[in-house]
Order: sequence, then C-alpha cells, then structure tokens
Amino acid sequence: MAKPILLSVDDDSDVLRAIERDLRSQYGGDYRVIGSDSPTDALGILNQLKLRNDGVALLLADQRMPQMDGVGFLLEARQIFPEAKRALLTAYADTNAAINAINQASIDYFFMKPWDPPTEHLYPQLDDLLDDWRASYRPAFEGIRVLGTRWSPRSYELRDFLARNHVPYQWIDVEQSANDPETQRVLEALGPDANKIPVALFPDGTKLLEAVPAEVAQRVGLRTRAQTDFYDLAIIGGGPAGLAAAVYGASEGLHTVMIEREAPGGQAGMSSRIENYLGFPAGLSGGDLARRAVVQAQRFGVEILAPLEATGVRIEGPYRIIQLADGNEISCHALMVSTGVQWRRLEAPGIDRLQGAGVYYGGGATEALSCKGEITYVVGGANSAGQAAINFSKYAERVVMLVRGASLAATMSQYLIDQIKTTPNIQVWTNASVSEVHGETHLEEISVLCSDTGRVERVPANAMFIFIGALPRTEWLDGVVERDDRGFILTGPDLISGDRGPKGWTLDRDPFLLETNVPGIFAVGDVRHSSVKRVASGVGEGSVAVQFIHQYLSKV
Ligand SMILES: Cc1cc2nc3c(=O)[nH]c(=O)nc-3n(C[C@H](O)[C@H](O)[C@H](O)COP(=O)(O)OP(=O)(O)OC[C@H]3O[C@@H](n4cnc5c(N)ncnc54)[C@H](O)[C@@H]3O)c2cc1C
Repeated sequence: MAKPILLSVDDDSDVLRAIERDLRSQYGGDYRVIGSDSPTDALGILNQLKLRNDGVALLLADQRMPQMDGVGFLLEARQIFPEAKRALLTAYADTNAAINAINQASIDYFFMKPWDPPTEHLYPQLDDLLDDWRASYRPAFEGIRVLGTRWSPRSYELRDFLARNHVPYQWIDVEQSANDPETQRVLEALGPDANKIPVALFPDGTKLLEAVPAEVAQRVGLRTRAQTDFYDLAIIGGGPAGLAAAVYGASEGLHTVMIEREAPGGQAGMSSRIENYLGFPAGLSGGDLARRAVVQAQRFGVEILAPLEATGVRIEGPYRIIQLADGNEISCHALMVSTGVQWRRLEAPGIDRLQGAGVYYGGGATEALSCKGEITYVVGGANSAGQAAINFSKYAERVVMLVRGASLAATMSQYLIDQIKTTPNIQVWTNASVSEVHGETHLEEISVLCSDTGRVERVPANAMFIFIGALPRTEWLDGVVERDDRGFILTGPDLISGDRGPKGWTLDRDPFLLETNVPGIFAVGDVRHSSVKRVASGVGEGSVAVQFIHQYLSKV
C-alpha cells in the first residue's frame, strides 16, 4: 500500500528543509514527506496526487509567502483533499492571523516558528492530528481507474478488454457519479482532459486520454511483441482449444507462442457459468476457466501475445510464416489455428450505430451489473442466450428473451429451459425478432416483429444482448488452407473425397486427423469443419493435436 503523504510548503528553503527533516525522522516510516517552496507548485503537486489516487494526511503551510499566503493555500488545497489535516506555520507576530484562520478557514492547528524541540512543540500535536486523520481514512484503490460514460462505445470496449484480460480496474462513470464530490475533484484535477474519455489513470500518476485497449495493454505489461522470431509451435487463437494446445505443447517441450486478438478465454471467457465441463460439479465461470488456463500455460513457459491479430500466413519450405496486424512476422514449424467463431451480426436499422451504447454482442460481462433494476433484452434461443438470460436475471428487474422460433425446445438444452421456467423475472417472447432499434445517444426502444401476428411492437429497453449464432472469420487463410463454403477449416478425412486427396498435398501419407491440406498447419475447436461446439471438445482437440504435431516435427 502506498504511504499517505505529509506535504509542507514554505518559500524559505532553510525552514522548508528543517521541517521536512523533522517530519521525515519522526513519521518517515509510515508517511511520505514532500516539500515545496511555492504554494502554486504545491497545488499542482496535489492535483497530480489526486490523479494518482494517493492519500494526503497533512498539509502544513507557512503563513507568510509572497505569491499566496498559507491560509489562501490551505483553502484551495482543501478543495482537492478535504479530508487532509491542515496546519499553519506562523511567526509570533502572526498569531492573530492564525487564530482567525482557525475560525474562518477551518484550519486544524497552528505551529509557532521555531518549533524546537520538536518532541515538545511539533510531534505531540501532529500525533493527535494524524491519529484523528487515520481514524476516518479509507485506503484508496491502487490499480488503474477508468473514467468514461456507460453509453460510450469506446469506454465499453476498454472496460470489456480489461475485464476479459483480468486486469483489476476501478470504473468511474462520470455521468452517473456527477454529484459525487470525489469524482468532481478528479475531473477538476484533469481539467480539459476530462473531456477525452475514456481516460485511464495509472497508479504512477500518468494517464492515457481517449485510451484504446492496445495502448493500455502495453502500459499494464500485456505482451504484444514476440521474444524471438521462430517457434516450434505457434497457436493462433487463445480460446479453450488454443489454451489446451499451448499447455500440452509447452509441457512436452515445444517452444510455444500463442497469439490472441482480444483476450485469452475466447467465447468461453464470455460464459457466465459452464455447467457441463468435467470435474466442476457446481459449474465454473468462463472467466475463471480462462484465468486458470492462462496461469497453467505461463507456468510451462508459453509466450502469450495479446492483443495481437494474425492477418495472413505464407509457406516457405518447412517454415510457416505468420503475418501480424502490427506489421511483424513470426515463423514456426507447426502452426495451429484455433480461432473459433465470432458472433453473427444482427441486420436491423440502428444496430451498428448503437453498438456499445446499449446494444452488445455476446455476454457483456462488464455490463451485467449496470443492468441493475432495468429491463434487459436477450436476442437468441440457444444455450449461450439462455445462460446470459439467467445471469442477467440476477441484476435486471426483468429479462426478456426474444426468440425467433415457436419455442426453446429445438435450440436449448433442457437443463437451461428448466432453469428459465423457474426464474420469475425471465420472460420468453417467442415468434419474435428485432426489426429496428431506436435511441439518440443510446438504446431506448426496440421494434419487435411478431411473426405469428405480423404486427410490430415498439417496447422500451435499456440494453440488448445479441446471441444469434456465430461464424468463423478465416479470410486471412485465403488461398492457403482449404475451407468449406461457410469458412470452417477442413481437416483430416474431410479433405478427402473419393479418390481425390487434399488440394496441393505432396506427402505420401494422408493428413493427420486435425491437419489441414498444408502439412504442419492444424485446426482445432469451433473453427474446424463439423466440430462439436463445446469447451470440452475444443480442449480435447487442442490436446490431441499436439500428438500429431510431434509426429509431424519428427519428419521436418
Ligand atoms: C456465452 C457462451 C456460453 C457458452 N457456454 C458453454 C457451455 O456451458 N458449455 C460448453 O461446453 N460450451 C459453451 N459454449 C461454447 C464454447 O465456449 C465454445 O465451443 C469454445 O469456446 C470454443 O473454443 P475455441 O478455442 O475453439 O474457440 P473460441 O472460444 O471462439 O476462441 C477463439 C479465440 O481466437 C481468437 N481469434 C480469432 N481470430 C483471431 C486472429 N486472426 N488472430 C488472433 N486471435 C484470433 C478470438 O479472439 C478468440 O479468443 C459457450 C459459448 C458462449 C459464447
């Protein structure tokens, strides 16, 4: 925990040095002592400390200073740190001014110069003041603070990124906490920069304005640059399948790198509760699963680069070379594609404009709490939508599921249907699809087309979460790896039809079970043609593929 601060201000450098020395020798173990010879500089320091979220216990100012007297300084400083104890240093001749200050400007104490010996004239009084201050002091949050507004898509993107990468942060909604005096003080310390949201404030006092995930990632030490340019195994995509391959590959001695576009965990990371994963009878959240897997992979020495996107691949003899969105390249002998699937877009007027401002794709883990007491819509009728509805029902006043079909039976597991039936604040609206969304700056209403009556109903809504199936995004593999007409990657037996072998295949063996038409490039998990779309199957494929990779590498 950072030490709280004792700040003294005196334009006479000898006096300043003396008071700093005495404060440090008595309180240096528990407090940080800062001195300034100018009241205006000291106010600047206080603003900086406010942005760092530091605690200030004591402000001690000389009364006679040329730019601003001590009382004036303490009055201004009070606006920034109202809880700090305030004391004046005065000469005998200024005693009256000091007494007036105590009355008029709520100053806690005044000390006479010289204060020798401090054991008699300084420490006993300061001990009292500091004890008093400590009694009501609550240590401040020491991580990153993000200032933004709930309806700003860029604020949402940053919060979602931090949450999914398990970076602790404190969220300050500058609109919702507009009446909170502490938020006001932070905004004042920021000055005009407060308009450049999202603002990320770091514990060292630095800040990022209009902060974007990639910049914040670098600041918090997420690695986006590879340590070397060659690996035995490169894995693209850090969902369950990629993470399993990383753990097995590295634990079996392969020099392994994993490249992830957003945050390790993939779709599973968005799941509020996975109830069917072996070994967790009470279920576990996708975020928890991802966090454990990342720690496990790192323990075996896997290099995880995130956020970083793979944008292309080319073959040079035994090398598979991956092109990255930052312009760099990495080469490897074996390449595993585990890029999963991404949410299908909902085509309706208003959706793109309001995305991140009330309209969200996927679970929106960061948004669940904001739905407290609101009406929340979930679009879709599959398991992912069901899980999300149950999760949101813990916070929202009412959750309405918009389901295109006539019932959930065809698309959702029975255990989820049963849970939904017994959750009183979830309403299932069948034969319903979104035809338009409305709102100026954020979602306010949804037009719902009822296919049984042909009518369109316009209903108020605070938030809408879309779960309408997913497709792979594999265009970056165009011309290299064979895919089906929806973009899923073909592997093993799926590449062989009749006598026709895989396109461009030159080896005298058939492709391994999870190998693509390019020797040494493997595909696992949801991105693979005809895969079972489950966490366990992705983990299984990722683990099994490592065995084929060993066989492949033994002949490279
Ligand atoms: C809300 C929800 C709830 C679910 N609940 C369950 C459940 O209870 N039980 C269950 O078994 N399954 C569940 N599933 C399904 C399960 O999560 C998926 O089957 C599983 O995550 C697939 O794993 P994967 O590794 O193949 O792909 P994904 O999890 O999709 O991960 C792919 C990763 O690749 C990254 N990526 C994509 N393209 C690139 C690129 N070009 N460069 C770098 N990285 C890239 C993505 O950012 C992503 O992190 C759920 C899914 C969702 C969405």
